[in-house]
Amino acid sequence: MMKLVAGFWQWMRRMVSRSLDFLYPRYCVFCLQDIRATDYLHICQSCRDALMPRNSMNICTHCGALAKGFSEQGVFFLQKGASCSYCRKRNFRFRRVKCLWNFRGLPREWIHQLKYYNGEYLMADLEKILSEYSEWYEYLAHAILIPVPLHWRRHWQRDYNQSHLIAHAMAKISGAFVIPLLSRCKFSHSQTELARCERWNNVQGVFTVNRRARGIDRSRRVILVDDVLTTGATLHECATILHENGFERVDVAVLAHG
Ligand SMILES: [Zn+2]
Ligand SMILES: [Zn+2]
Repeated sequence: MMKLVAGFWQWMRRMVSRSLDFLYPRYCVFCLQDIRATDYLHICQSCRDALMPRNSMNICTHCGALAKGFSEQGVFFLQKGASCSYCRKRNFRFRRVKCLWNFRGLPREWIHQLKYYNGEYLMADLEKILSEYSEWYEYLAHAILIPVPLHWRRHWQRDYNQSHLIAHAMAKISGAFVIPLLSRCKFSHSQTELARCERWNNVQGVFTVNRRARGIDRSRRVILVDDVLTTGATLHECATILHENGFERVDVAVLAHG
C-alpha cells in the first residue's frame, strides 16, 4: 500500500513539473537550449554530459594533479597510492584530494558562473550531479566539512561564499556536517590575480581557527572544501592551521583542479 501511495505521489510530481515546463519553458544557462524533460534545473543533457567527472586514471590521490611520469611503454603512469613529483616537493599538510572536474571547458564556465554571476541557483544541479556518484558519498560521509573562508570584505562584496555553497551541497548528499571553523583574519589579494610563486606568500598567516572549533573532537576527519585547487597554496595553509590546532586527519574536496 505504502509503495502504491509513494508511486502515486511521484507520478503526480512528474505531471505537475511537466505542466509547469509547458507553461514556463526552461533554458540551459550555457547553450540556451530548451531543457524540458531533463532532470536538471538549469542545464541541458548535452551540457550535463560535458560536466562528466574527470577520469580517475593517472590522477595523484594526494593532491589531485595529473600525474607526470612516463612508463617504458610511453604512457602516463602513477602507482596506486603514490604521490606525484609536484606534491612530493611541496609536502602538503592535507592527506588526500577528491576532485570532480578538470578546470577547463564547461566546468570552468560553470565555476565562473557560480563565483562571479550570482550562480547560487546552480547548487541544485550540483547536488544532483554529486549524488549520481556513490564514491562522493563514501568520501564525504561522517566527515566535518570546512569551507575555505572569504575575508568579510569580499564576502560582503559578493554576498555569498562559493565554498560555503559547495560544502552545503556536499553535505546534503552525504549527511556530513558543515562547520565553518576557519576565519580569514587578514585581507589578501585574490589568488587568481597572482603568479603561481607569489600565491604561497600571499596566504601565509591569513587564516585562523575560530570559536566554532571549541569542543570539537580533534580526532574527527575534516574535509576542506573549495571551488578550485590550482597551486594548493591556500588549502595547504588552511590544513597547516588545522594541524596546529590539533586536527590531524585533514582531507580536501574541490570542484576542479587546474
Ligand atoms: Zn546546454
Ligand atoms: Zn600529487
